[in-house]
Amino acid sequence: MVGSTRGPERLIRVGQWLIALLFAYFLIQVGASLIADLPLLSRAPQLERYVDKPGLQAVEARIAPLSAQRDSLRQQLEAQDGRLQEAREAYERGRRSFETWRSARAATEQSAQNPEVIARARQLDAQLEQQRGLEAERRGLEQRLAGVTAALQQPEQQRESLQRQAQERFERAKRGAELRAFGIRLLFVGPLLGLSIWQFRRYRSSDQWPFVWGFLIFGLFAFFFELVPYLPSFGAYLRYGVGALLTFIGGRALIRWLQDYLQRKEQEQAAPQAERQSQIRYESALQGLSRSQCPSCERSVSRADGTLPDFCMHCGLQLQRDCSSCGHHQIAFFPFCQACGQPGEASVAMPTRRETAAP
Ligand SMILES: [Zn+2]
Ligand SMILES: [Zn+2]
Repeated sequence: MVGSTRGPERLIRVGQWLIALLFAYFLIQVGASLIADLPLLSRAPQLERYVDKPGLQAVEARIAPLSAQRDSLRQQLEAQDGRLQEAREAYERGRRSFETWRSARAATEQSAQNPEVIARARQLDAQLEQQRGLEAERRGLEQRLAGVTAALQQPEQQRESLQRQAQERFERAKRGAELRAFGIRLLFVGPLLGLSIWQFRRYRSSDQWPFVWGFLIFGLFAFFFELVPYLPSFGAYLRYGVGALLTFIGGRALIRWLQDYLQRKEQEQAAPQAERQSQIRYESALQGLSRSQCPSCERSVSRADGTLPDFCMHCGLQLQRDCSSCGHHQIAFFPFCQACGQPGEASVAMPTRRETAAP
């Protein structure tokens, strides 16, 4: 088979792509630093700045004494509960010991007139009385606590509402700051993306194509990745929306390209043999044949034994012919005979400067 491109050309092609990627890489680095250094317009908002301080202080001043009173009442209640518990236990102990004492004695000794019985019963009565007193005190404490709690309800609600309002104002300010930060970046990245796409459409086949590609990659990367940390809540719509739009445009271009391609092939195949050959570029003819592909219809022309047929079985293009001087059988696109060196009849388009430059 024949080699398709000249040796250094392939290297240069790889080098050109490398240049494109390197160019994109350095632009991306510069762009990233630039985007990060763009001003945020304002410092991140602080919550304290959005609090109604005098209002909050007034409410706090109302709450503080009531709250202290409530705490003290709670402590008192707890202490009272302890005392009450003790009194109940003491009474219970007394009552039980009186019962055992009585059951251990004869019926006469249990008489209500017995002075010891009377003394013990009185003691128990006194204990019960004390317990009732404690219970009444406890109820009083509970009532006072309920009063204080009720009085606290209104200022506490007021405080909560003040804090909520401050939080809302703070959130709004934060969203605003984020939006401004994003807007500034979009003003930088949006036109950049537009410019990169415009120059790609216009200059992609120029011999400066590595820079055109590099700049396009930079524009796409800046828009779809560098912008991400600054995206507000709706940023995803913008990002994916633009992505969808670009994909749509790219897809349309691809479909159009395919239609053009098929149409071009059809026209090519309809032309007479000599004209067809003249429309085929030398480089692409060799490239196609090296892959056993017809240079015109681009279908595979390899025979079972791996050799080239004289004519393409799909479109009829002549692929091999005999030299008109010496009769050597060779590829029809070679401009000179392999055996005798005489110029052949092949009239393919010889490589131009453009051809070696464009990807
Ligand atoms: Zn063909
Ligand atoms: Zn010859």
